[in-house]
Amino acid sequence: MTRDELLRDPYVAAFPELVPFWEAAARSVLLLPRCTVCGATHWHPRAQCPFCRSDALRWEQASGRGTLHTFTVIRRPHGAPDLLAYVRLEEGPLMLTSIVGEEQPERLRIGDAVQVTFRAVPEGRWAPVFRCQAIK
Ligand SMILES: [Zn+2]
Repeated sequence: MTRDELLRDPYVAAFPELVPFWEAAARSVLLLPRCTVCGATHWHPRAQCPFCRSDALRWEQASGRGTLHTFTVIRRPHGAPDLLAYVRLEEGPLMLTSIVGEEQPERLRIGDAVQVTFRAVPEGRWAPVFRCQAIK
């Protein structure tokens, strides 16, 4: 998607500083903001570093690796359950996301290794979600 196409999405339009994140996600690249003063990464993106309040931030490619911090199973009458999760990224931040590709959520364990993948959302952009590495 182009920048103009992304900005037609009300969520993106509300947070235009995230356009580089969504552009990268469309290329299956996960970006995180890194503070150039204290060196910490954080999530969710914001205008100032939550650790030192510097506004000297830059986007940096994340490894896409993490561990399952916690999750909940949302069962529906039909179809596979939704797995809402917090993933602890290898770089440190916690990300609210979904686990995909797992039809037996009872097999998931806190601490399982996960890897980012990307899923189209109804608005057309691609969002980071994660697959458990232990279960294929
Ligand atoms: Zn900082």
